[in-house]
Amino acid sequence: MIELVRPAHLVRLRELLGEDAVRSDDASRERYGRDETENLCFPPAAAILPRDRQQVIDLLRYAHSERLAVTPRGAGTGLSGGALPVEGGLSLSLERLDRVLEVDPRNLVARAEAGVITAELQRRVEELGLFYPPDPASRETCTLGGNLAEDSAGPRSCKYGTTRAWVLGLEAVLADGTPFETGGANRKDKTGYNLTQLLIGSEGTLAVITAATLRLTAKPRATMTLILPFPTLESAAAAVEALFREGHDPAACEIMEDAALAAVAATMPLPDALRGAAAMLLVELHGADSEGLIERAAPLADLARRLGSGEALASQDATEERRLWAIRRKVGEAVKGVSPYKEADTVVPRAALADLVRAARRVAADNGLRTICYGHAGDGNLHVNLLRGELDEREWERRRDQAEEALFRAVVELGGKITGEHGVGWTQRRYLHLAVDAPSLAAMRAIKAAFDPLGILNPGKIFP
Ligand SMILES: Cc1cc2nc3c(=O)[nH]c(=O)nc-3n(C[C@H](O)[C@H](O)[C@H](O)COP(=O)(O)OP(=O)(O)OC[C@H]3O[C@@H](n4cnc5c(N)ncnc54)[C@H](O)[C@@H]3O)c2cc1C
Repeated sequence: MIELVRPAHLVRLRELLGEDAVRSDDASRERYGRDETENLCFPPAAAILPRDRQQVIDLLRYAHSERLAVTPRGAGTGLSGGALPVEGGLSLSLERLDRVLEVDPRNLVARAEAGVITAELQRRVEELGLFYPPDPASRETCTLGGNLAEDSAGPRSCKYGTTRAWVLGLEAVLADGTPFETGGANRKDKTGYNLTQLLIGSEGTLAVITAATLRLTAKPRATMTLILPFPTLESAAAAVEALFREGHDPAACEIMEDAALAAVAATMPLPDALRGAAAMLLVELHGADSEGLIERAAPLADLARRLGSGEALASQDATEERRLWAIRRKVGEAVKGVSPYKEADTVVPRAALADLVRAARRVAADNGLRTICYGHAGDGNLHVNLLRGELDEREWERRRDQAEEALFRAVVELGGKITGEHGVGWTQRRYLHLAVDAPSLAAMRAIKAAFDPLGILNPGKIFP
């Protein structure tokens, strides 16, 4: 049973951690009561901002002894409400654990604290000619801890894998304040259960991650971006399959349907080649030199043409590459300009991508809604945005909930899952049972109980 935070608790926390680590003013409670999920706000009794691992340990020991709820938080960019203190208690922000502890170019590993901003680590290692690939679109603001807790992904994960592929070890703290370390800096490790991989994607419900040892690779020396316009969704989807089957090894393979292109066209001019396209693929290639990439791009464009693509646009330099990527990068903001919306982070086996878009359109039409779809085609991960349009609040909520459930049921029928990268968190938990069978759910609950028997860590999340 979780206890309410009382004024005496805050007095004790200030003695333990220092005045500036405990923020209980209204502005802080509002700030730490939100993330980027819809317009939800669950203010904590206080936000706690430890300076180092020892303070995380001290906080958790105390919170555990008093049975106070603790919700870990990185930068609050999450899209499933994972960092929202939905049951009150304390928000534990890791933002001040922001040191890159080590970059080791000989072993190609880096050690960094959980509050380091993802792009900051990327810049640090790229200065040394190294590369940390996970690239959520929020990378300029989100933290490594959030990426680890969500197993975040991005366009490049179709070649390099999601965050979990780049983690060798973790430093973490259990709900009762016990510190522990998993894995290490070894590239192979078969020593017992793999707790590193269990904690990755656990959404702050099993332990608080304070630092990670991450795998690096050499920075690709050349990159090239191609835009491929398709006359039908089916031809674009067929091209996605063929690209991988025929070994073109894209570093990124993104898709935007016509409604997504139209939304972006309202904010910036699009290349003529995209006029009338039913779908666009954006493909990024990585290689050792630009000559090699030009050689690889030609057969790729030929393959796309045989499957119906119009003329391919290929970047000649970094400026053009940014210009072509802007079409894809702007879509999130552009959708906001069209209508209030609800985003479903669906994922299906890659070959079911076109079926998924059709299912989304059908479900939306059945409920009198429109959709805008785009996403990481190479991973079968499609962001389906259900648009509110002119509906009043009550009608929107009714139709949205109906459409969302029907969409997830369709996704599961296609062999997919209800979230590819944003996590279950608070907003998706009522659909978990659609995609996870009862024995698996029971095993997950048993794992949660083993790590956090009192249930103080991020209560109210994941489980229905
Ligand atoms: C504009 C925008 C674009 C985005 N693009 C992508 C994308 O391309 N791919 C993608 O996967 N996601 C994307 N996201 C979602 C979000 O950025 C990611 O989920 C990100 O990893 C969250 O990091 P954060 O530091 O903001 O974590 P928060 O939102 O603060 O927390 C997220 C979850 O992690 C837990 N957590 C945070 N830190 C720790 C820790 N140290 N220990 C234990 N648990 C912790 C929290 O409890 C919560 O459950 C996007 C979001 C926005 C707003």
